[in-house]
Amino acid sequence: YTGSDLTQLYHVYDSAVQESFGNRDYVLTHFWEALDKRWIQPYYQMEIRSLTGQICGYEALARWIDPDKGILSPATFISVLEDMHLINLLDLSIVEQVCETIHDCLEDGISVQPISINLSRVDFQVCDIFQEVDRIRKKHDIPPYYLKIEILESTLTRVPGQLLLAMSKFHQAGYQIWMDDFGSGYSSLNNLKDFNFDLIKIDMIFLKDFANNPKSRIILSSIVNMAKQLGLHTLCEGVETKEQADFLRDIGCERLQGFRFSKPLPLEEVISLIHKNGYGHYEPVELNDYYD
Ligand code: C2E
Ligand code: MG
Ligand code: MG
Ligand code: MG
Repeated sequence: YTGSDLTQLYHVYDSAVQESFGNRDYVLTHFWEALDKRWIQPYYQMEIRSLTGQICGYEALARWIDPDKGILSPATFISVLEDMHLINLLDLSIVEQVCETIHDCLEDGISVQPISINLSRVDFQVCDIFQEVDRIRKKHDIPPYYLKIEILESTLTRVPGQLLLAMSKFHQAGYQIWMDDFGSGYSSLNNLKDFNFDLIKIDMIFLKDFANNPKSRIILSSIVNMAKQLGLHTLCEGVETKEQADFLRDIGCERLQGFRFSKPLPLEEVISLIHKNGYGHYEPVELNDYYD
């Protein structure tokens, strides 16, 4: 490196660090107001049945709609709130808003599919997260069928004891529990044996080099196969192309999620999409070439 390269590198590093500190301060000083005024809201990303293209569920993904800064993504605030042990307040606010929405849909006769909630490992450390979620669900008078709990692979290794206990309570009450981002972390396959998941969400990492790395395709079909034999359902995240969707359908991956079908959308847009298209085929899959 020349001197000026180093100076440039230093500036890049410096501004990245400053930005993250600035961001951290911003999140922490405005969090209570953001909760109170509901700047933090769920966006919804649909899940698609790979064979029929029908919507079979949604995932709630938090967005901080800031009056000054615009839409902030989870990368800006989730880990800050985890560090401060405040993430359970955000997660429960998402649960509350999701339950309100499900309740309203059921009351208005709008058909609605189960919605996933992302829980942080910290939720299992700082409170009885099952009891909190279930209290909100009961308050809104909706069956547990409509809520699915997503837990990251890394949660299994960080808080195994609390997680096992909470998982059994969620299961007993009738919630589905999904493993999120499977394959992205360092946890072992052994976890599939010890923890009782209903579905594994395969991380989009295997789709990244899908087109030019046959090994990725081998890994994907092995995961789907193994899951099937273990009695687990499968969904692949981050599906962006027709080739990916077709491949995943052909290897028997049951559900797909990704920008190919839809980005996470605010509630109003989801509802107007359903009004326009119904639950039908999100044109992912040419059924003709499948049944040929
Ligand atoms: P995740 O639960 O694995 O969610 C999937 C992420 O991938 C989302 O990012 C989604 O917008 C993005 N995604 C979906 N389809 C595609 C695609 O086709 N291509 C690409 N490149 N990306 C796609 P997002 O919304 O930024 O969320 C990031 C992570 O933040 C989530 O990963 C989840 O771990 C966490 N998160 C989001 N909302 C919440 C929440 O309410 N509570 C907690 N505790 N964590 C949350
Ligand atoms: Mg998730
Ligand atoms: Mg995921
Ligand atoms: Mg993720």
